[in-house]
Parts: sequence; structure tokens; C-alpha cells
Amino acid sequence: MEFWFTEKQTEHLGLSVRVHKSLLIEQTPFQKLAVLETYQYGRMLVLDGAIQTTERDEFVYHEMIAHVPLTTHRRPGEVLVIGGGDGGAVREILRHSKVRRVRLVEIDDRVVAAARRFLPGLSQALDDPRAEVVNADGAEYLRTLPGACDVIIVDSTDPVGPAVKLFEADFFRTVHDALAPEGLFVAQSKSPYLDRGLIRDLLGIVRSLFPVALLYTAAIPTYPSGLWSFVLGSKVHHPLTFDEGRAEKLETRYYSPEIHRAAFVLPREIRDELNQAQ
Ligand code: SAM
Repeated sequence: MEFWFTEKQTEHLGLSVRVHKSLLIEQTPFQKLAVLETYQYGRMLVLDGAIQTTERDEFVYHEMIAHVPLTTHRRPGEVLVIGGGDGGAVREILRHSKVRRVRLVEIDDRVVAAARRFLPGLSQALDDPRAEVVNADGAEYLRTLPGACDVIIVDSTDPVGPAVKLFEADFFRTVHDALAPEGLFVAQSKSPYLDRGLIRDLLGIVRSLFPVALLYTAAIPTYPSGLWSFVLGSKVHHPLTFDEGRAEKLETRYYSPEIHRAAFVLPREIRDELNQAQ
């Protein structure tokens, strides 16, 4: 008998993966958490029915959410991640020797525990002496750190439950205030095909707060539509004048200086719509 998990991505669209074994299914205080062993993508972390990360394609998302901002900032010493309890973003951030400390602020410690148990390839980075795990609401925690961060990475779930506030204007004002004078942030911003309205709104908020506000994309097989986006806001540095030497030296599978540059080139329809929304 075959077992399949389907992520319902819209009312009329789903992604189905054949499951070899269910490793964990748990209701946490915040969400329904599952870790599935799949034939196609290896181990898969699922929250409230939505695929968060898989062993086989996680590198694309984690490299792109980390290396674009970290090679854009000249001296990224203090880095803060909101969400990201699987540890994948922290693993990539720690590849940068300029990083002195990375704090991961995850609201649900059960996600961290599940990743430590079932996804060591991602979570072992959390044991690094430069990494610190904080169990708290990212938006609240950030208010306690005015001007303290060089780079903030919002590696959150989609805007449901505790992540709703991470997509609101008030949160981005807090991000702005928590960044040092040369600081910048990146937040995952869903699919340019399926979530255009949300992306337009987010970019509008970021443009009202930061002199540099841009969208970039990456091709991620297990995320809805396969094309994913990230919104970047920066107080000073432009991501197209990044440190190419540092970017080239990173040990990566997807990210490269060429990919960094190309990621900001948007399909015409998306470019035009976002320009019009200015
Ligand atoms: N890569 C993923 C994606 O785009 O699907 C995100 C992965 S990561 C597992 C997302 C994490 O954000 C979850 O573990 C969730 O508990 C956490 N999260 C949601 N809202 C949060 C908040 N307000 N503060 C801190 N963490 C939050």
C-alpha cells in the first residue's frame, strides 16, 4: 500500500509526495508539527500542513536567504534570525567568518527539538559556539534590541498563527529600529505567482522605511509554484554592490556571485507590476 502526503497549496492545487515513513506527528502549543521520510525529497518538515523544508532542496532556500544579505553587508558581525528553528539558515550564516554571533529567535521550541532529532544536517549548526537559540516571539524580542543587529533574517512560516505579525508594517518598523546604521534585512515573501498582492504590500511597507528595497527570487522545487521570493531592505548598502570575492569563496551548491546578481532580475510582468506599485 502507498502513503501520500499532499500539501494543499491553494483551493485548487496541491503537491503530493509519497511517504516512506512518518517519523513524528505532534500538536505543539503553536502548530501541528510533522516530520516525514519521503522517497523523493528525503526527510521533510511540515507545519500545519505546509512543507517547511526538505533534506534534498533545503540548500537553495537557506543559501539564498543567508548569503545575499551577508555578502551585501561589509562587516556582518551581529546576525539575528527570526523563526528558522530547523537551523538551516544558521548553518549558512556561520560560513561567514565575519559573523561574531548569530541569535535564532524561534517561538516554538518543539520545532528546534524535532530538527535536532531528525534533521541533524541542518540543526547541528545550532551547537556552534557562535550560535545562540532564544525561545521567544521574534517580534517582541526584537523590540529589546534597538540598533543592535547588522543583519536580520526573517525565516518565518507563512502569515498564519504567530507569523501573521511578521508580515505587518509595525514589525518592519521594529526591524528598522533594531538594525545598526549600516544594517539590512531579508524576509521570505512567498510565491511571485501565487502571492503577488502580499508581495506588493510588503514591498510598499519596506520602501516606505528603507532607501534600498528590492525583491529577489530563487527556484525551490517544493515551495508553492516552484519560484520563491525574498524582500530585502537596506539602510545603506545596495545588494548589487556586494563582496564578490567573499561570495565566490563560499562553499555552496546554489548560491554564487552570478546567481546573486541574477536573482534580482525579475520576470517582466512581475517587474512592471512592482514598479507601478511604487
Ligand atoms: N523555510 C520555511 C518556509 O518558508 O516555509 C520557514 C521555516 S522555519 C521552520 C519557520 C519557523 O518560524 C517555524 O518554526 C515557526 O515556529 C517560526 N515562527 C513563526 N512565527 C514566529 C514568531 N512570531 N517568532 C518566532 N518564530 C516564529
